[in-house]
Amino acid sequence: MTEPVLVFSRPHRAPGEDTYVSEVLASGHVHGDGPFTSAASTLLREITGAPQALLTTSCTHALELAGVLLEIGPGDEVVVPSFTFSSTAAAVAMRGATPVFVDVDPTTLCLDVDLLEAAITERTRAVYTVHYGGVGHRLDELTALCARRGIDLVEDNAHGLGARWRGRPLGTFGAMATQSFHDTKNVHCGEGGALLVNDVDRFAQRAEIVREKGTNRAMFLRGQVDKYTWVDTGSSYLPSDLLAAVLRAQLEDFERIQAGRTAVWDRYAHDLPSWAEDVGATLMHVPEEAEHPAHLFYLLMPDHEGQTGLLGHLREQGIVGTFHYQPLDSSPAGQRLGRTPVPCTVTADVAARLVRLPLWPDLTDADLDRVVAGVTSYPGGPRS
Ligand SMILES: *Cc1c(COP(=O)(O)O)cnc(C)c1O
Repeated sequence: MTEPVLVFSRPHRAPGEDTYVSEVLASGHVHGDGPFTSAASTLLREITGAPQALLTTSCTHALELAGVLLEIGPGDEVVVPSFTFSSTAAAVAMRGATPVFVDVDPTTLCLDVDLLEAAITERTRAVYTVHYGGVGHRLDELTALCARRGIDLVEDNAHGLGARWRGRPLGTFGAMATQSFHDTKNVHCGEGGALLVNDVDRFAQRAEIVREKGTNRAMFLRGQVDKYTWVDTGSSYLPSDLLAAVLRAQLEDFERIQAGRTAVWDRYAHDLPSWAEDVGATLMHVPEEAEHPAHLFYLLMPDHEGQTGLLGHLREQGIVGTFHYQPLDSSPAGQRLGRTPVPCTVTADVAARLVRLPLWPDLTDADLDRVVAGVTSYPGGPRS
């Protein structure tokens, strides 16, 4: 085999990064909440429409921060989907509360709203939902149900920057939402995240304080108090302006990133349906009401042998595909720290059949020809 390995994901490089990072280093303001943090936060508010955006060191930390603001603690329960990254549930467990696992909808792999009501008890304080692949699903029903039951909604929007449900940006449906800027996400700064606060009356002021070691430094920087002091519980959730410099450059390049990713996604969606029908696979589904951000492209093979088989077949051709989340409800920590009222059978099923294809903005037409040929030559085909 002569062709280079086609990786699954490659962190984007934005044109302004080097200049901005040098500017931060030269400026003498390298710690957090400097001019680049401010610029990146403004861009985030513009993209999402959220009234407050606070940069954090990760999406996981933003989820923890949300848990502090909601005053979630021992004895409380938070509903999370069983098909998500560990962080969504770990942030609940970090508060001493219990993650309650609910299965996902088989068409979008987002939390199944029909199963939610039965999982709610008098201990339920919040729902941390995940827009899998940045695809929103039944968000009107989800927000209405949470409102009716007096439960806060937090969106783990790690995949969904720039996506919409019925025209409204993901990240604006919950009282708060969290973003990830890990280098596997559409927009990144290596490691990073943000907390979006929509319910500013309840959370905006305290969010700044808890993020800054429990101090009112943000008010001090705005000239609202003449010295800053320790006023509340807190931790250090703010990233250095060095990371914010990279993030600003990436957010300024957002349209180009999204155009590149969308072109890849559209190519897969265009070229794979007839092969999928032949082998009994199904391609990622996007409801009509959803605009998705081309964060990932997945297909569901008919069975687990198909998943292993297709991944191996691609690997033989130097193409890296991958599966995704292992079910949290049956994970060691999920069993010890969580509660699963009803077995999450859809999660177990899709985790064993899902295959994701390479997706990053600079994949060339030749790369895509290779991936499409690799997929559609499975199984068997003319190769001897
Ligand atoms: C990536 C991801 C996270 C974690 O993000 P970090 O920024 O690495 O903490 C959390 N939830 C989901 C759904 C993710 O995809």
